[in-house]
Amino acid sequence: MKKVDIVVPCYNESEVIDMFYRECKKVTDTIRGYDIHYLFIDDGSADDTLEKLKAICENPDADYVSFSRNFGKESAMYSGLKNSTGDMVVLMDSDLQHPPALLPQMIEGIEEGYDCTATYRATRDGDPVLRTVFTNRFYKLVNKISDVNMPNGAGDFRMMNRKMVNAVLAMSEVQRFSKGIFSWVGFKTKWIAFEDVERAAGQTKWSFWKLFIYAIDGITAFSTAPLRIASVVGSFISLSAFVYLIYVVLKTLICGKDFPGFASVVTLILFIGGVIILSCGILGEYVAKIYMEVKNRPIYLIGETSLENSKEDYESK
Ligand code: UDP
Ligand code: MG
Repeated sequence: MKKVDIVVPCYNESEVIDMFYRECKKVTDTIRGYDIHYLFIDDGSADDTLEKLKAICENPDADYVSFSRNFGKESAMYSGLKNSTGDMVVLMDSDLQHPPALLPQMIEGIEEGYDCTATYRATRDGDPVLRTVFTNRFYKLVNKISDVNMPNGAGDFRMMNRKMVNAVLAMSEVQRFSKGIFSWVGFKTKWIAFEDVERAAGQTKWSFWKLFIYAIDGITAFSTAPLRIASVVGSFISLSAFVYLIYVVLKTLICGKDFPGFASVVTLILFIGGVIILSCGILGEYVAKIYMEVKNRPIYLIGETSLENSKEDYESK
């Protein structure tokens, strides 16, 4: 019998986690012919999520991995994939925003020969307007300047076969941006649309600022275009300055010295100074990325787990 692992990252989800397991189970109990197993990743929750997970994991079809602290959803997903053993693995949010009703269809997709069945939200009704506007801009930008294609609305709710899971695990970068990673590894993907639903209970962990930082990480992780833009702007300004220099020299030779021009000089200095600082900032973003990657710190650390053979990230490094 084929095994399906359901990987569920949870961070302070005490209000919703029992409901998630109950609702999800209603669907998975109807799926015949597959051994379905839940793997909850407690991402260092500060509330009693872990206690609730321990209670859930009294059932033979569920296990948990609990981090030593909060590492972020990306680390939780990576750990889930690393500790999964199934022929198929699906990533699911714990707030029921990813409808379990799609699971049978997703399994079917893999059985049809696809490596992955991914979902995207057909609508964004559950999100605030401003967030939707910025999200749409982000996807336009990132798809234009990076070497991967990230479909707008595609979340992390996807089922992958073992081949693709191993490929995703092989991308062992510390600063992970899964949307880009899924697209970078390629493989045959079947897309399923679903209607956006509100979180069943509890609160979103994403503030606007956190999303903004995440967006910058997404761009710098899969594109070096900002560096190139800095070079192009720098070259353009140097060229203009050189032309202006010739003009000033000729003018002085022909018309003699004159003093006015204070305002234009100050404006130019400020403008060029601004461009230099901006370029340094862009460069800094990439240097910071290199710095974090060369340290090669583990992506997650397990505090406790119900798995007998749990895998730490550093074991294979
Ligand atoms: N999550 C996590 N670690 C974090 C933040 C979030 O594991 O540091 C989990 C969270 O418990 C949930 C999923 O990631 O299962 C999605 O989070 P959330 O619902 O807050 O994001 P949104 O749906 O608003 O994008
Ligand atoms: Mg959510």
